[in-house]
Amino acid sequence: MSENSGLMLQKPQWKKKRKRHKKSILSTAKGTCFLCARLHNDFRQKYTEEHHILFGSGQRDISEAEGLKAYLCPDHHRTGPEAVHNNQDMRELVCRIAQEEYEKTHTREEWMEISRKNYLE
Ligand SMILES: [Zn+2]
Ligand SMILES: [Zn+2]
Repeated sequence: MSENSGLMLQKPQWKKKRKRHKKSILSTAKGTCFLCARLHNDFRQKYTEEHHILFGSGQRDISEAEGLKAYLCPDHHRTGPEAVHNNQDMRELVCRIAQEEYEKTHTREEWMEISRKNYLE
């Protein structure tokens, strides 16, 4: 028997705790800011917050269910000049990228149904 056999039998604990929510469809990960990476080529690990891309009543739940969220550093989320909650251009940039990604696996009609806005024109 190899020395690894004991490990193979152990079930990872985190699997049980996992919720049904989808992972972000954007190429973003907790600990890397989507906009730092996209705008400044900065992939360093940092504190990030979860941003729901669709907003408005009921939209947050849809964002959650569809994985339409991004991890952002506080500067890009709330506090800085490039923060999505301060800067409409930034918010729409994230929406546009999300729509592009979403439409790789869905139709335009499906996007319009959940977002009510076309960001690609
Ligand atoms: Zn950032
Ligand atoms: Zn947010």
